[in-house]
Order: sequence, then structure tokens, then C-alpha cells
Amino acid sequence: MPEHVDSPKEACGVVGIHAPGVEASNLAYYGLFALQHRGQESAGIAVSEGATIVVYKDMGLVSQVFDQQKLSSLPGHIAIGHVRYSTTGSSLWENAQPTYKTAGNLEIALGHNGNLINTRELSELAGEPSDSFGPDATSDTDVIASLIADSGKENAEEAIMEVLPKLTGAFSLVLMDTVTLFGARDPHGLRPLVLGRLKEGYALASETCALDIIGATFIREVEPGELVIIDERGLRTRRFAPATPALCIFEFVYFARPDSKLFGKSVYKARYQMGQRLALESPVEGDLVMGVPETASAAAAGYAAASGIPYGEGLVKNRYVGRTFIQPTQLIRQQGIRAKLNPLQEVIEGRRLIVVDDSIVRGNTTAQIVRMLRDAGAREVHLRISSPPIKWPCFYGIDTANRDELIGAWMSVDEICAKLEADSLHYLSLEGMVAATDVPGEKFCTACFSSEYPIPVPEHVAVTKHMLEQPPVVGGPAGRG
Ligand code: SF4
Repeated sequence: MPEHVDSPKEACGVVGIHAPGVEASNLAYYGLFALQHRGQESAGIAVSEGATIVVYKDMGLVSQVFDQQKLSSLPGHIAIGHVRYSTTGSSLWENAQPTYKTAGNLEIALGHNGNLINTRELSELAGEPSDSFGPDATSDTDVIASLIADSGKENAEEAIMEVLPKLTGAFSLVLMDTVTLFGARDPHGLRPLVLGRLKEGYALASETCALDIIGATFIREVEPGELVIIDERGLRTRRFAPATPALCIFEFVYFARPDSKLFGKSVYKARYQMGQRLALESPVEGDLVMGVPETASAAAAGYAAASGIPYGEGLVKNRYVGRTFIQPTQLIRQQGIRAKLNPLQEVIEGRRLIVVDDSIVRGNTTAQIVRMLRDAGAREVHLRISSPPIKWPCFYGIDTANRDELIGAWMSVDEICAKLEADSLHYLSLEGMVAATDVPGEKFCTACFSSEYPIPVPEHVAVTKHMLEQPPVVGGPAGRG
């Protein structure tokens, strides 16, 4: 499921395997394959058969990085794996994970989904110059690994327990030493992490869909503030902080695969119900409801069911274009849409379309879609978005752009509608979005819609995404939308 061009970008997926008698790298490979939608820039696997850790990682998709020969060179019953989507400007091999560190008796590998917001303080603790660690995901992953490896503790478990309480921000971690697999989730549980049972052992993964593909049975989510430890004695758990859940609600809206479950709730069903609520909140006369492939398909189906207007597919997605190495540059953002989506003239011509999408970030892609549909003969184009306007940047590992680039931060809904040249535009309300998940609202982070950041963002981090600046006045940065 390659990412939709103008939606927020996810910043990683992780897996962990502890399965005596099994080649764990094979299971890690398939787990990563199921998590490919969470990051397409690089992939890596670290393994151990009990004596030493071997890591292989490279730029590209899981299927490009690994083949049977490379997997065969990664023996062992313990493995962690990682797929990464970079934030702009950090598309480098050095940033691929798992990260490996060794110091004294300790040898560890680590994969991280999320983003810390106290990297500067931590890098000083680690004895590194603070300017050597930027705000991107890999820098903070490096500093976590350094702190653990250099802790002076005799074993990895105690080192990890000492370091975890010092981390502030979003982290779902898979870690290993030569004999033990660990999984940890930040006290807010901003990013998902689940635990599954294999016939021969245990598995950790960002999403339940990865457990399904490797034949693991879902046990439970790793709890916010929990460290799970898996070794030859089985599964143990320790708590390093009280749980104050604030899962990223965008997991339900866009990031997670529809066949995954979060808080025990189906992601597909939540998206379908978002579409149903959208139809009730913003009805409009039309001939056809269609989704922007493919993350908005479930919401479009829900909209169609609730409105009684037929559902159809008006855009065909090239299933393969996203499966090549793509630099997330502005050029691709502007050019990519034509290669990825093509309108079906037979379905569109002469029709009043209700087009459902999951989000609008900068607006570039949505404007191109509207234009494409009109060129293909659409009589009307009514946009319905299954989340509220994105007004605030994310500091917890999601590339939602800087604040001054967010069209929802500096234009009213009517102004956005006019800029996108749509006949009408409506966003789902925050209440409607939350209610559609069937999960109590207090268990979510909704900061990019509401500015209610569950973890306060330090000023020196806030400025990196232009958070403290006033949005430009309407008509200001023309051409940005
Ligand atoms: S700010 Fe938005 S994208 Fe970031 S974690 Fe919160 S809800 Fe998710």
C-alpha cells in the first residue's frame, strides 16, 4: 500500500521475533513485507543465534533489499526488523535501521518507530555534541542506542530500563542483545506495537497485519510505558512509566492497514464509519461516490452506504509506481500524481462526483485530482474529507509538513474549496472522527487537528516546523497549496 502523495507520511514499521529452532530472519522479512506501507525508503534486519548480532540493511523496499540468499546469510532464532520512511533531507543509507551498538559487555541492535523531542538533552547525556543530533528519527535512534550501550550496566535489560524513563516523545522500540528480544512503547503509546504468539515463540510488530502474515496469534498490545522481555525462559514484563494512552488517531484515519486492529477495533470498520458520519454531517446531491485510492476507499464505501448514492471507482491507481525507490521531494509531490492515479472517463463523464479522501496536507495533490476529474468530464466535484483540517505539525514522527505549509492552518474551509476549485468541500468533525473509531476520545493524540499536544513540545523543537510563527495571511504564500 504505497502512500498517497499528499497525505501525511508514516515514519517506520518494526518487527521482532524470538523463536527457538526457527530462522527468525525469514519471519522478520514477511513481517516487514506486511508493514511496507509504513516506510518505503529503507529496510533492515538484525539477527542473532546466541553469540553475536549480524545486521543487514539497505535503501529500498523490503523485496529489493532482501532475497533468499541474503536471508540465508542471517542465521539465528532472534531477529528485529525495520522499514523506514525518511523525513525530507535525510534519505541516507546511514539512517537505515536497525541501529547497532556495542560497548563493553553489551551488544545491541535497535529499531525505532516514532520521534523523540528531547534528543538535544539526551545527546548531552550521551556525551555527544548536541548539534550532531538533528530532529530526524535516526538521530534520536542513535542516541538511544548509545545511551543503552554506554550505560555501564552488566546486561541489556537493566541498561534499557535505565534509559527508557529518560526518553521524551514517541517511541515504539524493538531491541535485541545476543540472547534476548525486547519491545518497549512510550508512556503515551503514540505509535502502535503488538505482541503475538508463534508456535515456537513470540513476535512483536507495529501492526496486527504483520502477525497475521507470519502465522502469529495476537496476544495483546504492548502497553504504553511497558517493556516486554522475551528470552529462552519465555515472556516477562516490566513497567518503566505509568500508562497515559494517546495513540496517534491518524493510525485509524490513514496510516495503519485496513486489516489491522488498534485498541481491538478494526481499522477498516473505523474508516467505513468515518465515511458514514461524513455523509450525515455533510450531505450533498450527487450521482457517484468515489474514494481516492486506496486509503480512502473504506470511507467512500461508508459514505455511499449512508447516503444511498452509488459507489464506484473513478480513479485507477498504478499499483507498481510506488514500488520503486521514491525520494520524498517536492518535485515528486508535484509530478507524482499523474503517474499514480488515472481517471476512468467512462465512470466520470457527465457525473456529479462525491470524492472522498482521508486528509489534505498541502493541497497540491487534491487540486490536481480535482483538475483531472474535471478534465475527464466530471460535471461537479464535491470533496469530502474523512478527518478535520490539519492545522498543526506533528513532532512525534509523522511528516505532516511545517505549519506554514499546511493549507488548513491558514485558510478557511471555503477558501480551501475555492483554491482547489471544487464545487463543495467538507471535513469530518473531530467528534465524528473520534466516534467512528469506537474508542474513547481521551485515548488519542489529535494534536495536528486540535493543537492539544499530549507531550509539550520544547521551543527549540517547535521552531523546526515553524510552529511559533503566525500562519501567513490568506493570499500570502501563493503557489504553496
Ligand atoms: S500530532 Fe497528529 S500525526 Fe502526530 S501523533 Fe498526534 S495525531 Fe498523530
